[in-house]
Amino acid sequence: MSNTSYLIPDALYPYFHSISLTEPPLLKELREVTANEPRGQMQLPPEQGQFLQLLVSLIGAKKCLEVGVFTGYSSLAVALALPADGKIIACDVSVEWTNIARRFWQRAGVAHKIDLRLAPGVETLDNLLAEGNRGTFDFAFIDADKSNYWNYYERAYDLTRSGGLIAIDNTLWYGKPVDLSDQSADTVAIREFNQKLYRDERVLISLLPIGDGLTLALKKEKREA
Ligand code: CA
Repeated sequence: MSNTSYLIPDALYPYFHSISLTEPPLLKELREVTANEPRGQMQLPPEQGQFLQLLVSLIGAKKCLEVGVFTGYSSLAVALALPADGKIIACDVSVEWTNIARRFWQRAGVAHKIDLRLAPGVETLDNLLAEGNRGTFDFAFIDADKSNYWNYYERAYDLTRSGGLIAIDNTLWYGKPVDLSDQSADTVAIREFNQKLYRDERVLISLLPIGDGLTLALKKEKREA
């Protein structure tokens, strides 16, 4: 298996998996199907899917948000870890990719837990806010177009409850943010996103060197001054 958690040394990666990865066969199959697709490298590594499962279990999440579905690996992983009455609202714009996702959600028997919204993510999140969902989500995972990361984050923050968790993928962006000569739109977006999040006192953050960098932002409880 190629090592997409590139901060874990290649020599250690098989051992790392051999003593920690418990990927169910259907997730493995989806990962293999996706790897053969163009842009298949966008998929998160299996240890990260498993980590998302641990996170939602840890906080007892029931109502989850996902921005950026791709072929559905993360949503399938999370759905499998949610209780029977758990729900994910999943946002994407690609019919083609999410058709693969839907097929696997159905085969896994979790399709009823996932509400796919095919529209630009900002639009879907604004609609959720307008429909009275402010402060009701336990968990949000952001893994979509980088230029909109802050837009997604601000809305996910508003949608999440106090004590809820927002996980943001690709925050190390293959190391590109430290190369200041790289002024490509995605790199600039990630660089600015990271700086803004670092200064955001409304959340407690931690950046994990898993996959391409996964930042966790815990929405602090509001306290009286
Ligand atoms: Ca990603």
